[in-house]
Amino acid sequence: MNESGEVRNTVILGSGCAGLTAAIYAARANLKPLVLEGHEPGGQLSITTLVENFPGWPEGIQGPELIENMKKQATRFGAELCMGHLTSVDLLRTPFELTVGRDVIRTRSIIIASGASARWLGLASEKALIGFGVSSCATCDGFFTSGKQIAVIGGGDSAMEEALFLTRFATKVTLINRSEVFRASRIMLERAMAHPQIEFLANTVVEEVLGVGERGVRGLRLLNRKTGEHSELPVEFMFLGIGHEPNACMFKGQIDLDDDGYIKTEHNVFTTRQGVQLHGIYACGDVQDRRYRQAITAAGTGCMASLEVEKYLEESGV
Ligand code: NDP
Repeated sequence: MNESGEVRNTVILGSGCAGLTAAIYAARANLKPLVLEGHEPGGQLSITTLVENFPGWPEGIQGPELIENMKKQATRFGAELCMGHLTSVDLLRTPFELTVGRDVIRTRSIIIASGASARWLGLASEKALIGFGVSSCATCDGFFTSGKQIAVIGGGDSAMEEALFLTRFATKVTLINRSEVFRASRIMLERAMAHPQIEFLANTVVEEVLGVGERGVRGLRLLNRKTGEHSELPVEFMFLGIGHEPNACMFKGQIDLDDDGYIKTEHNVFTTRQGVQLHGIYACGDVQDRRYRQAITAAGTGCMASLEVEKYLEESGV
């Protein structure tokens, strides 16, 4: 990963859409970037089905295929991809030091593209049943729901997408949203509403996931927040589609994070420490974007971060 004493030009943390776009640009600038693939290689696109809104794919493209294409494009120009994730990081000294297991990587610049991970409800019963009927990845676990009744939690596009995908396997999908309004985009909401296998429950929260260990989920205990009524819904799977948390806690105290843990950026990719703009450390993609969170915006900021690295290294005389 790192020859002793070697100082890399740039290390990219994360191999989703943002990280790989940054890698393509940095590789084409001959910076020989190292991409640390992180906990979720390929990021969120690698567990998505059809991506219909990435320009250039009029019929859509499968998320994993799009990521695979980006990897090929980055390595073709000399990017080095490496399985592994950060153990610790020191951004207070230069060159910056990244520890990955037993290896220490020293680098003149860093592009943080560590993305965001699925959010959970935080119930003890949910935690106990992860992998036994509780899942945050419809693409990964949908197959196991064949012929079963299941629930999807959430009211955004992720929940709609999961619910629609899961109708391929499950006989009935109940979409459970804590609010009155489902905040998904109109087109996704209309598709889900028109689907005969999908039912909607609004104003409803999950109080407990019912089931024991390997025997799996047998139902959900629900509370209607409007009427105060409790009920049980017999389902064998619960999928979470309630958004994501930024993967940035590793950088706390070294660069500025906002109240929800997203990396604060200026001009989209510049990081700050105590409000002062930093050079040499850039952030892109969902780890710094609570507003747009799209594959194309992640790719866009990945490109920008890489161009800033190039400019920074040139100005530093590298
Ligand atoms: P969103 O933030 O849009 O929606 C999250 C949903 O989960 C909301 O309904 C929210 O409820 C609910 N929620 C959040 N926390 C909890 C909780 N603790 N308990 C219960 N419910 C909770 O996230 P998405 O992941 O759906 O979408 C993120 C972005 O990605 C959006 O911009 C979306 O358009 C985009 N996207 C696009 C897709 C596509 O085009 N194919 C597919 C997937 C996502 P509440 O409203 O009450 O806060």
